[in-house]
Amino acid sequence: MRDMELSLSQYKTQLGELLTARSHAAAFNTTRATYLRTRIVALCYIWAALCALWIPVDALLLNESVTTLAIFRLKLCAVLLFIGWTTNQRSTLNACRNAMFALVVSLNMFYMLTNHQLGYPHNIDAFSYCYNLLPFVYVVILTILPLTVKESVCVMLITAASQIYVDIQSGALLSFDTIALYWLQTVVGILVIWAQTSKLHMMLRLYRHATLDPLTGVYNRRMLLTLAKRDFENTRTKSRPYSVLLMDLDRFKRVNDRYGHHAGDIVLQAFTQAVQETQRKSDIFGRFGGEEFILFLPQCSADNAQLVADRIMTRVRDMGIEVEGVSEPLKVTTSIGISTSLCKSDDLSLILEQADQALFKAKNGGRDQSSTYDQEEDLIEDGQKRPWLELVN
Ligand code: GH3
Ligand code: MG
Ligand code: MG
Repeated sequence: MRDMELSLSQYKTQLGELLTARSHAAAFNTTRATYLRTRIVALCYIWAALCALWIPVDALLLNESVTTLAIFRLKLCAVLLFIGWTTNQRSTLNACRNAMFALVVSLNMFYMLTNHQLGYPHNIDAFSYCYNLLPFVYVVILTILPLTVKESVCVMLITAASQIYVDIQSGALLSFDTIALYWLQTVVGILVIWAQTSKLHMMLRLYRHATLDPLTGVYNRRMLLTLAKRDFENTRTKSRPYSVLLMDLDRFKRVNDRYGHHAGDIVLQAFTQAVQETQRKSDIFGRFGGEEFILFLPQCSADNAQLVADRIMTRVRDMGIEVEGVSEPLKVTTSIGISTSLCKSDDLSLILEQADQALFKAKNGGRDQSSTYDQEEDLIEDGQKRPWLELVN
């Protein structure tokens, strides 16, 4: 029953992730923005080129308004080149989304202006095939983008609105042909929304596999260090303190030996949940390996880091972890090594090294305690240092 409830809430979360981007992690947004940006820029340049190359075709197919149409085409070409160029300079998801809407709006505006210029024709075969299919074509091309349902529907609505406007102006809104076309477009629209959200779903899954620890659901070592490195550089340029808590469960091997590996796994999950409940939104928490975890605290002084460590230790100490088949709730404790960087010349590897030394001291002091790195007691020689950032590119 509990498993069913769990999978139901997982489905709900996954559905929410597909509907809007509100719950997407900031790091995922950066990845999706990069993906969207390259494709939107490519689409802008391809449409701009096709738009200019179509000028001679206009001359062949239409015998009126060719000059005005050529001017429209050149203007659209310039707008698309501008959107492509500015999008290439931006990296946020919002900028990419805005660029996508700008691209769709420009193409639709062009469609409406062309129709207006030609007097809203709907019974010229050449025009029907080469021009009225335009909104159809660019909606289908947008299948290459991984979008949420909300973004997808917005794109569809913009396109549908321009088409309905043109059909009202031409007086063909309620004709049999138009209704048949709408039916076909609705089917294609639904398929496009499905394709775009499936792409997003696949991207979210791959992202989760590549960045999260499967047992605890927190960042894995690679992602933890990549995010921390980026964050650390930002904080350092602002000359703000940056603290690190390196946590290691005490005598964890005994839990596995006495109650089994499964019980050990449940303890790791309970521990991560306890830490997550104490962390701020800007903190970065993840599993470094085995029963070692790291909490990065941007803009946090040594005193505050000490308070956070105390809070975590108390919470973990007070936990009673229920495990099926074990009569008493399990009790565990954790030791924490704290290090704070204040100096612009520090690097992340160095403060991790210092937190490791502090953790060593906390373990030697009897466990279930924290210790802060003290430069005077620095004993570790270069040869003994751990390669902390070896996974960060
Ligand atoms: P100390 O207080 O000195 O840290 O003692 P410890 O027993 O916690 O330290 P040690 O590093 O010797 O043991 C860590 C154990 O963590 C050994 C390993 O079997 C266990 N472990 C590592 N990853 C997992 C996991 O994913 N699940 C479970 N159940 N155990 C794990
Ligand atoms: Mg350990
Ligand atoms: Mg341990």
